[in-house]
Amino acid sequence: MRAVASVLHLDLDAFFAAVEQRDKPSLRGKPVVVGGVGGRGVVSTASYEARRYGVRSAMSTREARARCPHAAFLTGRFHAYRDTSERVMALLRSVSPLVEPLSLDEAFVDLAAADRATYPQLADLSVPSVTAFAEHLRARVEEVTGGLTASVGVASSKFLAKVASDLDKPDGLVVVPRGTERDLLRPMSVTVIPGVGPATTERLRRVGVHTVADLETLSEDELVRLLGNANGHWLHQLAQAQDDRPVVAEREAKSVSVEGTYDHDLTDRVLMEQLLTRQAVDVARRLRKAGLSGRTVTIKVRLHDFTTLNRSTTLASPTDAPATIARLARTLLADLDTSGGVRLLGVGVSGLADWVQEDLFGETTEDEEELPDVEVPHHSRRAWAPGMDVEHAEMGRGWVWGSGRGVVTVRFETAETPAGPVRSYAEDDPDLTVWRPPTPEEEPG
Ligand SMILES: [Mg+2]
Repeated sequence: MRAVASVLHLDLDAFFAAVEQRDKPSLRGKPVVVGGVGGRGVVSTASYEARRYGVRSAMSTREARARCPHAAFLTGRFHAYRDTSERVMALLRSVSPLVEPLSLDEAFVDLAAADRATYPQLADLSVPSVTAFAEHLRARVEEVTGGLTASVGVASSKFLAKVASDLDKPDGLVVVPRGTERDLLRPMSVTVIPGVGPATTERLRRVGVHTVADLETLSEDELVRLLGNANGHWLHQLAQAQDDRPVVAEREAKSVSVEGTYDHDLTDRVLMEQLLTRQAVDVARRLRKAGLSGRTVTIKVRLHDFTTLNRSTTLASPTDAPATIARLARTLLADLDTSGGVRLLGVGVSGLADWVQEDLFGETTEDEEELPDVEVPHHSRRAWAPGMDVEHAEMGRGWVWGSGRGVVTVRFETAETPAGPVRSYAEDDPDLTVWRPPTPEEEPG
């Protein structure tokens, strides 16, 4: 715990749903549910309007539909989320070199390391100063994201800053003055402590411990006996707001990766292996072009229900051999259950070195791996996912409102337009295409 409240935690409110409402004006102020829309889909994010009907993250989409049938149920648009996240993280990094992202929509910022030439109000780190600064930062977030709100907590540790950002959500700010941390925690459930999940909660409940105040009555020895050494010590510390974890800036994660998203769920394992092989060859080509090699091969698999799995394996020495990368990628895939369908596949190599050591597997002769012609079959049934960005030759940009029985319905609007008109087309109308953002290389200038 620091002598002043100088750790800031920022959390964007209902992030995925908020991005959808920004880009789809007709959905502003309405219930929006982002997640898997299929039969076994799971809710990823619900807008606050949908939460009023009891819709929550991780709930089955089936249940969400029962609770809030009039909500807009959308699949995700990760390019839009990533782009928005990057703008927020860049803003935070302009404040302090010590920014620790926890996910796309959440990060810690160390205000003690802030650039005081740019932000003189942070020179004294007093409660009024950090409060004024945090309000300024929230306003800036709204500007750079095109209208998204963030909740912010500022406190003397990461633990308390994260607790604080949750207290007045959404669009809230809570600064916890030094010295008030324990009073704030005491009435809270023990589940407020990171790492206290259902199993630990149950063990604590059996000995009559429900709140942090209850937890304080146990000695460290008692907690260690109850929960084991590491957990017992950790809970004893955090129950007293003792948290000295530093804000660690994300190390520049050097990696080369290639990924593909598919308009329908892939289920064919052979096809998935072929796609991974092609991606591996692509990664290897990029590595060679840049004169790089890496030791860790990673695959990324996003399942039909939005779960994203990353699996990696590390070689003894760096490689840039397509056959090696491809073989490892396929081996990693073999351990995953993809029977429900896959909507994204990717291969990456990280832990980069700018030299190539002799390959561990001596597979240089296999370098030119024979590439099968891979064609992702087109299932028109799944091609138009609700929420997807599309473009019509005459009407311009819009999003898929719904599809079925050979018809796709589009609402023509973007973040920059008012709520727009709705039109229906045949699913195979040649004038209607999927819209994708320009990749950086394609951007003019
Ligand atoms: Mg959030």
